[in-house]
Amino acid sequence: MTILGIDLGTTNSAMAYIKNGQPEMIVNSRGERTTPSVFQKNLSGELVVGSVAKNQYSSLPEQTVLEIKRKMGTDDKVMIGDSSFTPQQISAHFLKYLKQAAEDFLGEKITEAVITVPAYFSDAQRKATKIAGDIAGLKVERILNEPTAAAIAYGLDHPESEKNIIVYDLGGGTFDISVVRLDSQRIEVKASAGNNHLGGMDFDRLLVDWLAEQFAEQYEVALFSFGEESEITQRHARVKLEAENVKKALSSEQEATFNLPFLAVYDGQPLSLDYTITRSEFEDIVRPLLMATLEHVDKAIRDAGLRPMDIDDIILIGGATRIPLVQQLVEEKFERVAKKDINPDEAVALGAAIQGAMKEQSLPEESSLMVIDVCPYTLGTDILRIVDGKRESGYFDILIHRNAPLPVSAKKIYNTVNDNQTTIDIGVYQGDDEDTHVRDDLRITATPIIVDGIPENKAGKEKVEIAFHYDVNGLIQIEATVLSTGRTISHVLDAQRGMMSARQVKEAKLELFDDWEKSKLASDMKAVIRRAKKVRRNAEPQQAVQIDAAIQRLEHAIQEADIELVKEREEALLDMLMDIID
Ligand code: AMP
Repeated sequence: MTILGIDLGTTNSAMAYIKNGQPEMIVNSRGERTTPSVFQKNLSGELVVGSVAKNQYSSLPEQTVLEIKRKMGTDDKVMIGDSSFTPQQISAHFLKYLKQAAEDFLGEKITEAVITVPAYFSDAQRKATKIAGDIAGLKVERILNEPTAAAIAYGLDHPESEKNIIVYDLGGGTFDISVVRLDSQRIEVKASAGNNHLGGMDFDRLLVDWLAEQFAEQYEVALFSFGEESEITQRHARVKLEAENVKKALSSEQEATFNLPFLAVYDGQPLSLDYTITRSEFEDIVRPLLMATLEHVDKAIRDAGLRPMDIDDIILIGGATRIPLVQQLVEEKFERVAKKDINPDEAVALGAAIQGAMKEQSLPEESSLMVIDVCPYTLGTDILRIVDGKRESGYFDILIHRNAPLPVSAKKIYNTVNDNQTTIDIGVYQGDDEDTHVRDDLRITATPIIVDGIPENKAGKEKVEIAFHYDVNGLIQIEATVLSTGRTISHVLDAQRGMMSARQVKEAKLELFDDWEKSKLASDMKAVIRRAKKVRRNAEPQQAVQIDAAIQRLEHAIQEADIELVKEREEALLDMLMDIID
């Protein structure tokens, strides 16, 4: 049974499996090794994923969802027409598509997967990813950190020596840096740092801003301020896609041109844009963001107890590391050349497949590696302190320090602070070792976990032991025990922002299934409807009205996903067309 390795990226996704003891990429139905993470529900209810959806983005911007990974772990919703989707549901659609593509490629059913996430993903973001897997019908065997996956792929290829490596991962939406110790048997992450909101899409956005400035200078009007709202949305989509093309071109060329014919109509005049930007102008635009990544690199190296000179190999992964300035800055920092024998788009999926095979113990013994990862955050709770005789709340009390090897557990005992206090609220926060106070944005529980049933007693007399467990998937569990009674409360952190209950997951699964059924019906019926519209062009007016009505009835049945009714109405339409043609 194959455990699929899935790199579920912000802009691109990829999958791999193990063939004869070696990881191999899986191509999708279009023969591509990576699939753009773009989802579309077109006007006829068809679901489209990947390059086709990306190519149609500028004509159907309101039907298209991009970069959903940025929203994982939030309760933001995405609307397409009248349908509302959670980020987990959109991700589930990608996973369902990838699962199907892998099944077609391998000729077997796939039910399990290792899915990668940025090392710096929070507990809520990881849970949302796992839920997306559930909705898509995949048991998620492991949530694996992306740089760790790349290190696994690299380690399998370079078993020869002991090394310290850094994995610098700059993808479409996220940045991670991991410092990893490799030897022939172990892959040990020493430290991870990163930013979940920094990646290639931010460079695209800066290029869009640059273009808008050029435009405003030339035409004295803001590029996205005139025309109907739908036109502005389409214009923005076209400019955004072109910005990505320009950015990519600048990785190999010294200058590139935004080529946007008939982008807009202004003052009754059609406008075609044609602006050229040089690589050095682009570098000036993105340099501050890239310098920010180096600060994370410094932090991770420091946390690992190393100096830049202790690093033997530099591994660059994620599409955005193709930008020459990225390579230059990292290579200057470490005074060595980055490894070129690793594919930045594929290493993560390959590593995920290896991890899956290790779990199943289906790899040759010499390829089996022990993988030790770390918790990228410092985890703790909020407490009250007496300062100068006054009670002050909101102090961050650390239970698990960042970069602790996984799995890790820690406990502390806390006292009641009031007479006859029968409950204690546990807030769970993720921050940094340097944080002294909790803040709302560090909180990872939507509401505190309440420990009740504490016997009435004098302040300070009752004690509650709080334990935090952080597992290999990066998921947190909390346990609280009232010491005087032995009463224990266990709590997997699922009541968080954007989380779904078991019932909601089940409903989402059915909905997803239903959406793909409808999509299949819509796609199967496309040829018939196209034919009907063709016949209609040469039909008598009365016949045209009849054809329109029959098409409408068929479309309605598709919307209802009523297979029997669709078949019936398809036949009725075909009979009508035959009669008309006769
Ligand atoms: P990933 O999530 O690893 O697939 O990375 C995707 C990001 O890499 C997107 O923002 C792409 O636009 C960007 N990217 C891909 N190829 C290049 C390239 N040749 N030069 C610059 N950025 C690139």
